Amino acid sequence: MSRIVIVGGSDAGISAALRIRELDDDSDVHVVLDDAYPNFSICGIPYYVSGDVSDWRQLAHRDLVALETTGMQLHLDTRARCIDPERHELFVTDQSEQDEVIRYDELIIATGATPIQPAIHGLGGSDSLGIADGVHLLHSIGDTLALVRTLESRSPDRALIVGAGYIGLEMAEALTARGLSVTQMEQLPEVLPTVDPELGALVNDELNRQGVEVLTGTAVKRIHRVGERLRVEATADRGGPVTRTVDVVLVVVGVRPETSLAADAGITLDAKGAIAVDKRMRTNLPNLFAAGDCVVTHHRLLGESYLPLGTTAHKQGRIAGENALGGTREFAGSLGTQVVKVFDRVVARTGLRDPEAAAVGFDPLTVESEADDHKAYYPGSRPICMRVTGDRATGRLLGVQLFGHLRSEIAKRIDIAATAIFHSMSVDAISELDLSYTPPLGSPWDAVQTAAQAWWSRLSSDCHR
Ligand SMILES: Cc1cc2nc3c(=O)[nH]c(=O)nc-3n(C[C@H](O)[C@H](O)[C@H](O)COP(=O)(O)OP(=O)(O)OC[C@H]3O[C@@H](n4cnc5c(N)ncnc54)[C@H](O)[C@@H]3O)c2cc1C
Repeated sequence: MSRIVIVGGSDAGISAALRIRELDDDSDVHVVLDDAYPNFSICGIPYYVSGDVSDWRQLAHRDLVALETTGMQLHLDTRARCIDPERHELFVTDQSEQDEVIRYDELIIATGATPIQPAIHGLGGSDSLGIADGVHLLHSIGDTLALVRTLESRSPDRALIVGAGYIGLEMAEALTARGLSVTQMEQLPEVLPTVDPELGALVNDELNRQGVEVLTGTAVKRIHRVGERLRVEATADRGGPVTRTVDVVLVVVGVRPETSLAADAGITLDAKGAIAVDKRMRTNLPNLFAAGDCVVTHHRLLGESYLPLGTTAHKQGRIAGENALGGTREFAGSLGTQVVKVFDRVVARTGLRDPEAAAVGFDPLTVESEADDHKAYYPGSRPICMRVTGDRATGRLLGVQLFGHLRSEIAKRIDIAATAIFHSMSVDAISELDLSYTPPLGSPWDAVQTAAQAWWSRLSSDCHR
């Protein structure tokens, strides 16, 4: 019986293991992970911190018993230290510092990503501030439990979040829900730089409306202790120095692929340090696959990219598992579809924004429009702000961004767009889709169809000018 070993017990690693056991219940599958939290939904961390989810254990997609019942063998708190690709051996060290060699026939690397620690004086180095000082990074369940311990033991009043990407925004909401006053500092000119600044500005308004102090164009330079508190010193693009004194600092400025194990084994990385894999999730070395946040992302419109997302990690893991058993399945590619809840609003995107489309040779036109989420005569209707990007030359739909109320079915509507882009539909063809309608939930022309029609009329009027 061949043995398949997987390093990493999160979305990609467990998806691979489940697929292998599903296809072959004789398979000998081992999952090695360096913590004790296999198959946890780290995407749910903000909702445990906020209190919406009362017990962190509820964040488990499956508990240990359910995982073991599938027949996989889990090696918890076990760090994979190096791979000998020629001898097919993985060297690991367990919690009690015992070394072991695990032989494999096929190995899947699913080591994910680690949070970026930005160059801020006071972070990194021998005198680095850390958890004991109230300074936290956030990626794993271990990080989360440490943060919640700080929140419970110190009863802080003020928090400062460095970074306003989607995790930073979710955490601004979570900490506000816990009763903290939150300041968010972002060095870029607008929050949520993964969407156009026009939509970022609407997200910013919502944060302000909910009492979050948002300082954009503000780069944190130094964090230091002042008694029991933390002083954060920053420089604003306009207006010079900014200082805030807070009780807890959360640094969430993105992730980088965790690839030291792969690199040391001679596996090729791309320029950004992610593991280079083909669409079958094969690395350059035989019998070695990789999946999830540690690998490059094949994007249907961009080619190779890096888009660390849970949705992608699940799919890639499943494919790596199937192919480690001898399969030939290919990853169909990502569109970077994502959706974020920010208090009472939701923002979502799929496909390309204007500058991204131009960079890969399209001739993009982006048109912003607004439509009600359902018929205005039925109570509670609200506007959705939509930005559609299409290719002037071919009329092809390239990207959609949406912003609206929590109850406006933004996620459903971005998924319509994602499906259309996945199948290379034109903007015009969106109007032909047979979408559902009843006045309390929609309109005869759904909002995304209205946005597509607005794009088409702008293109036509530009052509006739
Ligand atoms: C707060 C938060 C919210 C998020 N929200 C969303 C969301 O709403 N939607 C979305 O699509 N994505 C979201 N994401 C991203 C998503 O969670 C990740 O893309 C996904 O979890 C990646 O899975 P992975 O298995 O590739 O890697 P990871 O989850 O990073 O897991 C890596 C695994 O490898 C193990 N490991 C690493 N090195 C070693 C080693 N040397 N030896 C042994 N084990 C090792 C780790 O212990 C872990 O088990 C969120 C992430 C965070 C942090």
